[in-house]
Amino acid sequence: MFLKICNTILALIIVIVHIDAFPPIRNDNVPKPRLLLDKYQSYDDVMEFLDVVGEYYHPWVSLVDVGRSYENRHLKTIVISNSDGRRGKNVIFMDAGLHAREWITPAVALYVVDQLLGEFEENAHLLKDYDWIILPLANPDGYEYSRNADKMWRNTRSPNVKDCFGTNLNRNFDVHWSEGYSELLDPCSEHYAGSKPFSESESVAIRDLMLDLVRTGQGKMYLSLHSHNESIYYPWVYER
Ligand SMILES: [Zn+2]
Repeated sequence: MFLKICNTILALIIVIVHIDAFPPIRNDNVPKPRLLLDKYQSYDDVMEFLDVVGEYYHPWVSLVDVGRSYENRHLKTIVISNSDGRRGKNVIFMDAGLHAREWITPAVALYVVDQLLGEFEENAHLLKDYDWIILPLANPDGYEYSRNADKMWRNTRSPNVKDCFGTNLNRNFDVHWSEGYSELLDPCSEHYAGSKPFSESESVAIRDLMLDLVRTGQGKMYLSLHSHNESIYYPWVYER
């Protein structure tokens, strides 16, 4: 009897371990996603890659539009969750491309997607206790403008005054908004913080996503990818 109980417990442990490391369910009716890293991808390429990933790795993956850019492009997130059956896990949220000209950052975000799913065995520990929400193109209008018109473009593409366009999304959040230096209120400056906090649909989308994660208590880490220099910036901290 004792041996039987031990065997049952052992079998349960094996099942739990097995479920814990269960590989992504793949849909072989669609081609396997191939992440191309030999050139920077266009907005259309990125959307298509996410769609293929969503179909191929369904139901590990869901695609959620969290809003639209000023020029009506999708702000598409990919939500990655392993199939261990645990609901309401903590969430790591990553965005990329807030600054349009930092082309490497959407590529890095897509690489993370590819690694979490395509190299599941090696990276299973990253999904064990966390779901991931990744927004690879947080500023798609600016990204396309940077690719096609002005390589050094940094901001959104919403119109300001005097034929000047764009808001610096990093400065558009409601944290000491517009404080610091005069260019933040210059609609023709690349530092422009916008006409008011959250004047841009792109920052609103990120704000609302984060508020959801705060409300549910699931949000544990936010990573915003930039490529200005080799630094890690921690959140703005100040005393009231
Ligand atoms: Zn940046």
